[in-house]
Amino acid sequence: MTLVNVSAGPEKEASIALYVHWPFCVSKCPYCDFNSHVRASIDQDEWREALLTDLAYEARLLPGRKLTSIFFGGGTPSLMEPSTVEALIDAAVGHWSPAKNFEITLEANPNSVEAARFADLGAAGVDRLSLGLQSFDDEALAFLGRAHSAREGFRALEIAQKQFRRVSFDLIYALPGDTEESWAATLAQALSLGTKHLSLYQLTIEPGTRFASMVAKGAFEPLDVDAAAALYELTDDMTSAAGLPAYEISNHARAGRESRHNLTYWRYGDYAGIGPGAHGRRLGMRTARHKKPENFLQSLARNGNGIADEAPLFPHEAADEALVMGLRLREGIDAGAIAERLGLERIVDWGRVDRLVASGHLTRDGTRIATTPRGRLLLDHLLGEIAAREPRASAAA
Ligand code: SF4
Repeated sequence: MTLVNVSAGPEKEASIALYVHWPFCVSKCPYCDFNSHVRASIDQDEWREALLTDLAYEARLLPGRKLTSIFFGGGTPSLMEPSTVEALIDAAVGHWSPAKNFEITLEANPNSVEAARFADLGAAGVDRLSLGLQSFDDEALAFLGRAHSAREGFRALEIAQKQFRRVSFDLIYALPGDTEESWAATLAQALSLGTKHLSLYQLTIEPGTRFASMVAKGAFEPLDVDAAAALYELTDDMTSAAGLPAYEISNHARAGRESRHNLTYWRYGDYAGIGPGAHGRRLGMRTARHKKPENFLQSLARNGNGIADEAPLFPHEAADEALVMGLRLREGIDAGAIAERLGLERIVDWGRVDRLVASGHLTRDGTRIATTPRGRLLLDHLLGEIAAREPRASAAA
């Protein structure tokens, strides 16, 4: 059995990012397929202890790493007690020493109750807030099942921008009825709000969601693919012109304002994932925690960790994953360096890559490949085309 160290080279070998999943929300949005659960009450003390125990388990396996980032995601982590957030940050920086440019992000919903906690979350150590505004329009917010109004959203953004050094917000577009005019107006408004990082997601209908059953019953029709593609191109043009080009398919930032944590995923670095449903990748293994909060707690009581599944990452799987992640980035991926790291002869079919360069879907500089704006629209198709069919171990492996 050949296992690989999938860390990104000598410097990254010593680093780790930490993802903490808080699985609770006040209600379930109809488009959401994240691991989120609604519970009548949550024992904050029990959850603090559970997450600290899960973290300590990972830390014991990964001694001496440099901690590059912590990301509190969910669910709705802005519903965590700030003291829980602080306890986890303190424990993490006790286990690992923070790297230069260490970043701590927390995802927040913009209702007034959560906005009232921003100061305490800042005092707890969070220095970057990712705010789920989703829309500036009350009708669209109601359609999306969001628990906040447009007014609350603007107010929360204002508070966040005073409180945190870095603030990003999310919008969802390509809703039924969206037009180039309506989306251009929304995006212009977003770009006028002084943010240096924006996450702009197209509405997709995910299996198992309430929207999926509504679409199946004919309650509404998703925007058609061509119209959605036109909105994507418009987004690319407007954000580039405003100095926040896409550095990843759905993420836009001024230079230097990219999400450091998410870059670790896309550049295929190591990360520990704790909390219900969290995924991780470290020591040549992929990990997944129990998704259901109650099962996660039982696993912790039984085993001292919340792991439901842990499996070795084989070189060809790691190669495919690295390619999927890396091609999301505008900077692309050095397919030669990744192949070398994984002990493979190659991870792409260079003949096919060159054909896609000639057709304007990819660019190539030595062994570094990247998608063009045109190629990004067809990313899934490109990945299927260029992945090496039979990556073989290199002689040196
Ligand atoms: S707030 Fe976020 S995680 Fe929670 S249900 Fe809505 S989309 Fe899902």
